[in-house]
Amino acid sequence: MRRVIYLDHSASTPVDARVLEVMMPFFTEYYGNPSGMHAQARASAQALDRSRWEVAEILGCKPKEIIFTSCGTESNNLAIRGVAFAAARAGKGRHIITSACEHSAVTQTIAQLCEHFGFQQTVVPVDRWGMIDPADVERALRPDTVLISIIYANNEVGTIQPLAEIGAIARAHGIPLHTDAVQAGGYLDLNVDRLNVDLLSLSGHKFYAPKGVGMLFVREGVALLPQQTGGGHERGRRAGTENVPYIVALAKALKLAHDMRPTENERLARLRDHLIQGVQTALPDAQLTGHPTERLPHHASFVIPGVEANALLMYLDMAGICAASGSACHTGIAEPSAVLLAMGIPRQLALGALRLTLGRSNTAEDIEMVLEVLPAAVRQLSAL
Ligand code: PLP
Repeated sequence: MRRVIYLDHSASTPVDARVLEVMMPFFTEYYGNPSGMHAQARASAQALDRSRWEVAEILGCKPKEIIFTSCGTESNNLAIRGVAFAAARAGKGRHIITSACEHSAVTQTIAQLCEHFGFQQTVVPVDRWGMIDPADVERALRPDTVLISIIYANNEVGTIQPLAEIGAIARAHGIPLHTDAVQAGGYLDLNVDRLNVDLLSLSGHKFYAPKGVGMLFVREGVALLPQQTGGGHERGRRAGTENVPYIVALAKALKLAHDMRPTENERLARLRDHLIQGVQTALPDAQLTGHPTERLPHHASFVIPGVEANALLMYLDMAGICAASGSACHTGIAEPSAVLLAMGIPRQLALGALRLTLGRSNTAEDIEMVLEVLPAAVRQLSAL
């Protein structure tokens, strides 16, 4: 079978064999409900505790500040709605600050709060690289602001935000800062004190754990109204029997990614830079999107004039190259990305977005193959 070149790691990653190995026994050997009162239950509860400690160590927080969830989307929903409703109930206000480069799991959650629950939002702009100016966040603050939610690294263009600076502003005004760190997980520093964040969302399948598991850090003292009610799981903040095998997997995958980070980031960044340079040499009209240096180490994204993204993705797919046009959720819809438009990229150009995100399996040969196939694809499609 022809080897597929997978360049869509920002959409999802394969499960690491070492991760699979540690999670498997929790399906068939240690399957007790962690809330139970017997040996089987204790084995599950211990694994759950251990996983929480492992994750907390990487985030530099207390284990009790970690809530395991089903995905990054749920973590964002719980963070935003949980803080918003708790603040509104306490009479603190109904104003939320967010940015123009958020994932739909954040934008749609805030939109619903505004549409149906009387909240108001201020959306701070991004510059042409998709970067937020912390001063804009400070200017957006109001006496009734109850939450700031800013993405750590953007999924479509890879730009890394000055989170610690934004966090310092939030802290000075006593406003909790939530960050959607789903794309940062496994690649960037996740220490919540260095980042100055109060809530942080992660998703396992972005760093070689399975799909269907995530987590949310909530700093002690931040008021959060649970969104899923039932038993007292996760200290009463997220009811539902814990998905022990997947939680074990998330903790192991995060630890592996954390340990591999210095060397793997360097390797990925080298490949990525070669890819970006190669694309720009072969296709001088192609424009790199996102920040040229403050970007995720595995992330290359472009807009290519005269090409329609979905046609290009199909061409690449036929050549055995898995790529994306932006957020996985947008793929299939011929609508330009709101993030690219917010960066000032014209609508027509934004329709030609291409995202290539590298991962552990990619080699220099993969990049050479892409540099062979992509220019030919673009020439052929623009001639149509
Ligand atoms: N936030 C960002 C920035 C993402 O890229 C994604 C997924 O692509 C999500 C949230 C949603 O995560 P999940 O797929 O775990 O629901």
